[in-house]
Amino acid sequence: ASNIRNGAIRKKIAFFTHGCKLNYTETSTISRKIKHEGYSIVDFNTPADYYIINTCMVTEKAERKCRQTIKKAYKQNPEAKIIVIGCYSELKANELKEIPGVFLTFGNSDKFNIVNVISEKNDPKPDNANEFHSSYSAGDRTRSFLKIQDGCNYFCSYCTIPYVRGRSRNAPIAQLIETAKTIKAQGVKEIILTGINIGDYGKSSNENLHKLLMELANIDDIYFRISSIEPNLLTHEIIDLVKNNKQFSPHFHIPLQAGTDKILKRMNRKYSISFFRDKVSEIKKAIPDCFIGTDLIVGFPGETEDDYTETYNYLNQLELSDIHVFSFSSREMAKAYTMEPKVKGEIIKKRSDGIQLLAQKKHLSFIQSQLNKTKLCLFEKSAKNKYIYGLTDNYIKVVTNYKEGLENTHQMVQLTSIENNNEVFCKII
Ligand code: SF4
Repeated sequence: ASNIRNGAIRKKIAFFTHGCKLNYTETSTISRKIKHEGYSIVDFNTPADYYIINTCMVTEKAERKCRQTIKKAYKQNPEAKIIVIGCYSELKANELKEIPGVFLTFGNSDKFNIVNVISEKNDPKPDNANEFHSSYSAGDRTRSFLKIQDGCNYFCSYCTIPYVRGRSRNAPIAQLIETAKTIKAQGVKEIILTGINIGDYGKSSNENLHKLLMELANIDDIYFRISSIEPNLLTHEIIDLVKNNKQFSPHFHIPLQAGTDKILKRMNRKYSISFFRDKVSEIKKAIPDCFIGTDLIVGFPGETEDDYTETYNYLNQLELSDIHVFSFSSREMAKAYTMEPKVKGEIIKKRSDGIQLLAQKKHLSFIQSQLNKTKLCLFEKSAKNKYIYGLTDNYIKVVTNYKEGLENTHQMVQLTSIENNNEVFCKII
């Protein structure tokens, strides 16, 4: 059987990932390394010998979900060894060790050592929180996440990431170019550049993001997407490069977080609302069909009803394509933990609902503005029933009738209609 190797039964390892794209990318790399050692990777919903759970603690809700996943693993196989890694584990290892079934915890600095623990090499050398572990996701051949940067030096007052992931650091350009070529050789068509604060790329190699993008553009036949980038770090040069080089998707995610200067200041963000407005206008002027997404936190301590109204009106007049709304969650380590006055839960909920409705409106009107236009689309690696789904370069999920050979290919498509469930139909040109 496939579980037997050299006469010994292969240990079965199951993974589960919570949180950000970086966590997914890192889980993917750890799982690849473990597979390389000869272990068998199984579905998380089946009995396994080891359950490896990569955790998040960005909000209380995220922590709760992680604990539920641990309980689920324990229920599936009480004999299994559960290893908890990632941000939750970095900050609250003792709390996690109390949960039945938890065998080991690894923080962000040493989680890549679990490969040694599982393969019983027993040399989990503790490493430095500021070391950079390169990672990329694989498995889905269509697109892959490439980690270019880790950590953050910004210390926004609501955020614990600088405490759990350390300071900003990165892999040098030369190394990332090699990894990008390896990913391309596996048949991947698009690479999404990820990190914690990717605009800050270059801190440990004396390089910068624009330089990295220029070098990546020298690799033919592969497309790139820049994920979330801080507004103050999205330079004219980068916007220009995306405008002029078709290998870069016209898609930016620039986290705003608050719609008033008062709250931005309390959050310790590095720009004003007028700067952000100008940035959005600059992008739209350069690349009219560009998708611009943002993040917004509602219910930050001190946010009044007037602040909320101002935020709503401000967002309403911006040319945004989508808004991700987050409810403020008080995190012990973050500076905002002690900030007052706190906003009541039910008020946060109401404000969140209001912005979410606005987000839906913005998203729909962006899609409507793209109808009848012709866009480059990357189709997924598999079809579902008689349909196949794809993503346009400007981040619109589209669907069309399946035809053989469309999987994992780029095609020019025309967006034809939006159906009831907001599915966008397209035809191949
Ligand atoms: S930029 Fe701010 S929100 Fe983003 S990781 Fe750094 S401290 Fe956190």
